[in-house]
Amino acid sequence: MSADRPTWADMTLDDGHHCLSCGAHVHERTIAGYGDNDGNLFACPDCSTPRDLRQGAGRDPDYDLEEDRGQSTASGYHPIFGDSDE
Ligand SMILES: [Zn+2]
Repeated sequence: MSADRPTWADMTLDDGHHCLSCGAHVHERTIAGYGDNDGNLFACPDCSTPRDLRQGAGRDPDYDLEEDRGQSTASGYHPIFGDSDE
């Protein structure tokens, strides 16, 4: 059987840097790069994609994976015209 391993098992070893979304331990440089100015990181490489992090997912608690992605990926965005055969 698989052991029930809590996500926060390494709390005693870490330096207090965690992803506020998934609780993963993150390096302070990750926070410096993607978190906000208060040292908060709302998304990390464990629970988000590099693209989302670059677009501000780590420093914006209201970052919306669907909306914020859609607005800034113009090159891959295909509008729906809705006029089919009918
Ligand atoms: Zn995370």
